[in-house]
Amino acid sequence: MSDTLLRALDLIEPGDLVLYHGSIPSLHGLYLARPCECFDCGLADRLGSTDTRYQLSDPFAEDPDAPTLRRVRRESITRSTANA
Ligand SMILES: [Zn+2]
Repeated sequence: MSDTLLRALDLIEPGDLVLYHGSIPSLHGLYLARPCECFDCGLADRLGSTDTRYQLSDPFAEDPDAPTLRRVRRESITRSTANA
């Protein structure tokens, strides 16, 4: 897939800043997104799921690699326009 097409689809790329607006209002805010790599998502991938899930981590936390949220649906996040 070309870069242009990826942008048109508005895919989240690893390390992108995103806004979470999903089902847990107390956690709404800005996060770093990566494809979720937990056991359940790995299993879903092997079973042919195209429902990509993401893990979100707090960029201001002491350990920004520690995910705050896992298995987040694409529709629960929006890529932030803040990371030009
Ligand atoms: Zn997962």
